[in-house]
Amino acid sequence: MKLATKAIHVGQRPDKETGAVIPPIYQTSTYQQKAPGDLIGPYDYTRAGNPNFTNLEETLASLEDAKFATVFASGLSAITAWILEAGPCHVVVNEDVYGGTYRVLTQVFKKFGVEASFVKGADLKSWEAAITPKTRWFFAETPTNPLLSVVDLKNLSALARSKDIRLIVDSTFATPCLQQPLKMGADLIIHSTTKYIGGHSDLIGGVLITNNPKLKEQYDFFRKAVGLNPAPHDCWLTSRGVKTLAVRMEQHQKNAKAVAKALQGHAAAETVFYPGFGGMVSVRFKKKAQALAFIKGLKLFTLAESLGGVESLVCLPSIMTHASIPEKEREARGVTDSLVRLSVGIEETEDLVDDIRTALKEI
Ligand SMILES: *Cc1c(COP(=O)(O)O)cnc(C)c1O
Repeated sequence: MKLATKAIHVGQRPDKETGAVIPPIYQTSTYQQKAPGDLIGPYDYTRAGNPNFTNLEETLASLEDAKFATVFASGLSAITAWILEAGPCHVVVNEDVYGGTYRVLTQVFKKFGVEASFVKGADLKSWEAAITPKTRWFFAETPTNPLLSVVDLKNLSALARSKDIRLIVDSTFATPCLQQPLKMGADLIIHSTTKYIGGHSDLIGGVLITNNPKLKEQYDFFRKAVGLNPAPHDCWLTSRGVKTLAVRMEQHQKNAKAVAKALQGHAAAETVFYPGFGGMVSVRFKKKAQALAFIKGLKLFTLAESLGGVESLVCLPSIMTHASIPEKEREARGVTDSLVRLSVGIEETEDLVDDIRTALKEI
């Protein structure tokens, strides 16, 4: 079965009791037992498990051709479970990661003995140079946010393997449609399902995907022990959203390509960041005032954080998504205050291009 078919059929069998084509929302905290400890199904309490978690996990694992998935309340709670399993150690991370990933590593888990070194993701030598005797994991986000640079996962995973280090890939921007990191040698994938996988900007969720049964068992354990579980309703919504992932990604890509083209070559646009695939485009203007005028001129792109929904969004990362990174460091990483990030939605291409052209005229 190909991805678009799996997204619709795997983990979504009609309900056995009623024949309902769509599995119901199991909006329950607890489950009846026949006798103490004698369960009717595999579930006893929803913090530990729920049929809506299981259905979604089956679907998401299948999209990466993986054996296991564990769903979480958010992308960041998935990252939390990953760190809790890793324990006190050293990790190497590409420097232009999602602001929340940077924040949880440097402001939360640092207190618990997790040291992080941040390196230029595209430069394999800088990953190697950052390794210490305590390094247990490489964390690679690719394409990155908001500069959309790409990490060479095949060579990075080969380097990791040769040093007995594990590799986790934040594949949120690529989705399983455009990149399947486990097949390139990664040990673990994290997606913020809030973004393209859910696809409708109506929920928060995350997932860890692996072929390693020990890791799967540990992630299930930490979800239950710490309370990182999602809500059944959010999992149900994610299961609904992911069915159209493949068609949505096609339109996102078509539109992003057209938007990048409309921005390229405009006198005020210093650099257009577009990796040639996916739905994200960033643009650095010469001045902050131009960036602000461009944002103000857009009618179809809503000013908001987040990305990956059907509707187009625009944001100014320096003040919005990446505000938790100290200014000097942020600027050094290229997230300047004249950088605008666009999450290109699935509206009609021509309407989006017109909107971009009109806004460019305003600056
Ligand atoms: C949004 C995002 C996260 C965090 O996910 P939440 O669901 O918001 O907790 C992590 N990584 C990337 C690349 C993201 O875009």
